[in-house]
Amino acid sequence: MAEQGQLSEEEAKKQLGKFFADMPHPIPLILFCEPGKNEPFAAGARQIIRAIRELTDKVTLREYTLQHELAKEQRITRSPTLVIAPDTFKIRWLGAPLGHEVQTFMEALSIIGYQEPGLSKEAMKVLAKLDSPRAVKIFVSPTCPYCPVVAANGIRAAVARPDLISLEIIDILANPDLADQYAAQSVPQAFANEKQIGLGAQPDELFVASLAALEPQRVFIPDSDAEEIACDLVIVGGGPAGLTAGIYAARSGLAAVVVEKGVLGGQIATTPMVENYPGFTQVGGKTLVDIMVTHALEYVKIFPGEEVQTIAPGEVLTLTTNRRRYKAKAVLLATGAGNKRLGVAGEEKLAGRGVSYCSTCDGPLFKGKKVVMVGGGDSAVTEALHLHNIGVEVTMVHRQEKLRAQDRLLVTLHQSGIPILFNTELAEILGGARVEAVRLKNNQTGEESTLPVEGVFIAIGYAPAVELALSLGAELTPDGYIKKDERHRTTVPGIYSAGDVEGGYKQIVTAAGQGSEAALAIFEDLINPYWTVQKKR
Ligand code: NAP
Repeated sequence: MAEQGQLSEEEAKKQLGKFFADMPHPIPLILFCEPGKNEPFAAGARQIIRAIRELTDKVTLREYTLQHELAKEQRITRSPTLVIAPDTFKIRWLGAPLGHEVQTFMEALSIIGYQEPGLSKEAMKVLAKLDSPRAVKIFVSPTCPYCPVVAANGIRAAVARPDLISLEIIDILANPDLADQYAAQSVPQAFANEKQIGLGAQPDELFVASLAALEPQRVFIPDSDAEEIACDLVIVGGGPAGLTAGIYAARSGLAAVVVEKGVLGGQIATTPMVENYPGFTQVGGKTLVDIMVTHALEYVKIFPGEEVQTIAPGEVLTLTTNRRRYKAKAVLLATGAGNKRLGVAGEEKLAGRGVSYCSTCDGPLFKGKKVVMVGGGDSAVTEALHLHNIGVEVTMVHRQEKLRAQDRLLVTLHQSGIPILFNTELAEILGGARVEAVRLKNNQTGEESTLPVEGVFIAIGYAPAVELALSLGAELTPDGYIKKDERHRTTVPGIYSAGDVEGGYKQIVTAAGQGSEAALAIFEDLINPYWTVQKKR
């Protein structure tokens, strides 16, 4: 039975059917497969296409082997390769749209069927100026929640400039040799004309700017005529704290928006399994995020892939993002925390080439291979167990003589038989184009050793994202978190904080609780602003 606010399967099918019926352009698909080669992926591709064809005849499918003339003519050598609308666009999918990639595939059908790239005005301006061809390759994995964002950016660009942009979406599970050739051991990873243009999720403007420049771009400055949105509250960050704050603020009657620079959900989006969020004995991190986002969308507008670049203080606060400006009476910083880096030689150079901070995204590529997991907390243990469960040969490396993770996790860890090197520090990551080994040092004996591995997973905690707070002149605690009072007010009037950026227990449930508290405090403060009261005294 469908829950309140959710569609029944029949209703969902009806709506999808209408969505395809309204689509002005048919989408011919050609699937090239070779019997005996990557069969499960070919079967997966057929299954998803068949399900779509049950809803519409606008999507058609022809299938050929790699021996067929057409395959030779188009130089298609990999099984399976899905060619999408070849008369109009140059878009190929090497592998099958499975897992998170189903989302990308549906988005591709929408973009291609409606022939609307759906890129921002700013991104379109960059593409309009492009004057030479770009052969784009985007490496993705079905287990990576960040990948659909980047793959969709590639499709949008290829649809916007079919004259100059060709695209290959490459599933690393079906094409491990290609991933190896490009040393693309972290996903998503994008290349254009054989040059790396992006590692990790990028908003569309940054993606197209990197595509045009043929190197990764970090900042995108919007035109001064960007759109402006006036509201009561801008919540910066779309993790559990920000999403919960959005629900509470809107239900209190505030006009609130959530702006998230990357992927919604924050750290949970890549948490393999959550076992301590009330109401769920076990739930996949990304599934929990989807449930929270669906709930929040009932109340607030959410702007993902949009980075707040500056906040100008004042009675009305002005926020500038890479897309637009917001005028708000209050700002809630729910900016969370980013992965801490080890800071050892080789780490930066080999990031994406075997060094990874996301076992959910990159783990499958290391199946049957030797890797180390550095860290001794809940994250390191959870991720080591995930790697072990998917067939990766993982060894934990921890600098103490004891792990600090929860007992429940430690019991499972010991049952798993995962080897643990205690009192051991990772001193250097070795490798040329990719990780080949690590240099380890026993901090009790001083003894050094080299361990050949193909991957280094790092889960040593998180550093709070306090840049915006600092730019506003907000004070930090001695530990480097945002200083706030019991009502989540920072030291700057009108600016509040919630979630991991405040420090304390880093649990999904505490972040959500802090988000709700902050939203309620903001509601009360906006009725009776403490900063104007302070001024009058
Ligand atoms: P954490 O609890 O801060 O643990 C970090 C681990 O990395 C520690 O063992 C630390 O060693 C080690 N470490 C830190 N810097 C290092 C360095 N430079 N070199 C080598 N090792 C280093 O971080 P976390 O595991 O990511 O957890 C963060 C928060 O999220 C915690 O509050 C945790 O409870 C929560 N969390 C909860 C769950 C869950 O409830 N299932 C799952 C994941 C995370 P030392 O011990 O020597 O400091």
